[in-house]
Amino acid sequence: MQLFKFGQNYFNSKKMNSALQQDLNDFENILEKAKQQAIGFLNDLENIPTSKKETIDTNRELNQSGLGSLAVLEEFNNRLVPLMVASPGPRYWGFVTGGSTPASIAGDWLASIYDQNTQAVASQGGNSALIEFETIHLLLQLLKLPKSFLGGFVTGATMSNFTCLGVARQWFGKQFGKDFAKNGISEPINILTATPHSSSIKSLSMLGIGSQNYTTIKTTSGNREAVDIQDLEKNIKKLDGKPFILISSAGTVNTADFDDFESISKLREQYNFWWHIDAAFGGFAAVSEKYKHFVKGWEEADSITIDCHKWLNVPYENAFYLIKEQHTSLQIETFQNSNAPYLGNPLENFNYLNVLPENSRRLRALPVWFSLLAYGKEGFQDIIEKSIALALHFGNMLIEDKVFELLAPIRLNNVCFTLKGNHNQEKVSEFLIQLNNTGKVFMTPTVYQNRKGIRASFVNWRTTENDIRIVIDEMKEVFSKI
Ligand SMILES: *Cc1c(COP(=O)(O)O)cnc(C)c1O
Repeated sequence: MQLFKFGQNYFNSKKMNSALQQDLNDFENILEKAKQQAIGFLNDLENIPTSKKETIDTNRELNQSGLGSLAVLEEFNNRLVPLMVASPGPRYWGFVTGGSTPASIAGDWLASIYDQNTQAVASQGGNSALIEFETIHLLLQLLKLPKSFLGGFVTGATMSNFTCLGVARQWFGKQFGKDFAKNGISEPINILTATPHSSSIKSLSMLGIGSQNYTTIKTTSGNREAVDIQDLEKNIKKLDGKPFILISSAGTVNTADFDDFESISKLREQYNFWWHIDAAFGGFAAVSEKYKHFVKGWEEADSITIDCHKWLNVPYENAFYLIKEQHTSLQIETFQNSNAPYLGNPLENFNYLNVLPENSRRLRALPVWFSLLAYGKEGFQDIIEKSIALALHFGNMLIEDKVFELLAPIRLNNVCFTLKGNHNQEKVSEFLIQLNNTGKVFMTPTVYQNRKGIRASFVNWRTTENDIRIVIDEMKEVFSKI
């Protein structure tokens, strides 16, 4: 009774909070202003610096009553926008950083607006997981992969590697009749890999396997990061018939090198292993007739990691995993959330929360769906081939300049280079700091074969030859001053 009265009194005496009410009345105006803001940023991307020195005092007090969105937008403009760098712009060449196409932005916005919780396909409160199925199906067509892969969306390639290696861990236990997901790891897990991305190692740590518990296989001779198949087989033989997990690479970050997937496929005929491929960006080689040879044979893998916020040019956070359908029960054993009785039996009712790390998720497939339909196979083939052409062009300009040298051949879209000559090694870091400080370009440092180097990665759909010219001029200028 008391409780009921409280409710009545509450609604009699109170209206909606005034800031919320005002925003509700202003909805259209708020979205319109946000849109104008977006257009301003996107149209000016080429001129916005790729690095900023501005900072903020992060101890801002929370106001008692709300300011309303329009006032907040103003504060955002004054205080936070100065922190923003042109990372979706054409000269942000650090890491492997994609931009965002109009279609991907529209899809991403609408994912927020529709705000679906992408879990189920049946009568569990929505059918938006069907959009995720359809998008994965479109991606398989783009990448020329068979339908025997099932996939889903996660935040990035790190979480995709985690998801795939989590299922691999469960598979490994099963080879000994054990259920690691239920009972913990009770057998040392054998992992073989040549040039793993740091995020795979991080995944081994998160999965309780241990970030040091892997065997490093030699790379092929010459200036390569690909696994040496003979050394791989030698190490397999040392395991004396025991199962193992192979983490292989389709596109290493320094030199975009690829393991030889056809040879690895042949090894599968003789040995028992889970084959994972980290193809975060390199998988997109499949889109081009010219470069698809790099991934020949990859369809035989058990699991594949691919990022969308890199070469697909959709906004963060967006990646997917592909895992062979035959492993779905292992995947459910690893990620099932079925101890919540209202969610039903995971084997009967498909629900994404039983096959990947997160429970509630946004409709991450939507920006990808928009992009794939908007630009089609040809659109992405053009982005991929243009990026590679730009990388080669930049490489040529560097060589011609005599001040720089390439540390590795340019196989795909990454250029790994340094200042020419060992005497310049101590200047590399200072050169890069000063170059990045110009705000005209952003690149990241690396070490390759014990030499300090710099990486430039071409991923953004908006980069042009003119950007290369601008950057080469900056580089000469900065070098002349150090
Ligand atoms: C970028 C990258 C990752 C990590 O991806 P995130 O999206 O940053 O989590 C993993 N592997 C490779 C090869 C990458 O290039």
